[in-house]
Amino acid sequence: MHKYGDCSFCGGEVKCEKVEFDYRYKEKLYIFKDVPAGVCQQCGEKYLTAKVAKEIERRIQTKEKWDKTILVPIDVFSEGITA
Ligand SMILES: [Zn+2]
Repeated sequence: MHKYGDCSFCGGEVKCEKVEFDYRYKEKLYIFKDVPAGVCQQCGEKYLTAKVAKEIERRIQTKEKWDKTILVPIDVFSEGITA
């Protein structure tokens, strides 16, 4: 099992978990479930190993039948709201 270093954002401990991971590729949003990733126990930042990231790209490029496709509503915040 891959040993993750400490979180590069907050320094928290990163543990291996199976997570849901969003991946944007060429104007499309893909969601992968049960992805083995490192998750920071403090801030929740997710880390993928190079191997897993490569596998995600490979699936996007070669997979023809996806388990499920959902609609993703998009809203563009109009003017008038500032943070
Ligand atoms: Zn963190």
